[in-house]
Amino acid sequence: MQAICIFSGSNSGARQSYITAARALGALLAQRGIGIVYGGARVGLMGQVADSALENGGKVVGVIPRFLFNKELAHDKLSELCVVNSMHERKALMAERADAFIALPGGFGTFEEILEMLTWTQLGVHKKPCGLLNVEGFYDPLRQLFERAVDDGFLRPAHRDIALAEADPAAMIERLKKWEAPIAPKWLDRSET
Ligand code: AMP
Repeated sequence: MQAICIFSGSNSGARQSYITAARALGALLAQRGIGIVYGGARVGLMGQVADSALENGGKVVGVIPRFLFNKELAHDKLSELCVVNSMHERKALMAERADAFIALPGGFGTFEEILEMLTWTQLGVHKKPCGLLNVEGFYDPLRQLFERAVDDGFLRPAHRDIALAEADPAAMIERLKKWEAPIAPKWLDRSET
């Protein structure tokens, strides 16, 4: 595993544990020689992950759309900063340059990004592992929604299980490394529910 893409809040959140987890993940990836691909901002948990990885000698690649770059939100000390023309272009490049994805706590942007990567893995667009860093149970409600989708016939259990969840950054990295893509087809018929 050469690079992991991190999705995380452009705000830091209300709990110190979010910042602690973001910094621990950044440092751990750097120490293990695993590069980071992320949204390129200097603000929020995004900035915390990047700063911590850089302080520990890690390689951090930012991919930022021009309109956010122009707002001067970009991190100016990254190993590499790619400025792209749209959010779509950004997502495609982040996905291409990473071998796995981890979502830390965040808001709509973070949810949208990890859910799209889960969808691409489910459809076989790519076969890359996706993890939810479940700091203080932040992702428990989303995982409950996944259970509801399984119970109501919208999601296969095998696809629900694509969303790996761990509270501890080291345990998360180990799960991502050991993961194997499911073979289940996407579509369910009524007899299966
Ligand atoms: P949110 O969770 O809504 O704060 O959005 C964070 C996610 O959306 C990050 O993983 C980024 O990829 C993207 N994003 C949101 N705001 C910014 C920003 N100011 N600069 C760069 N990326 C951002």
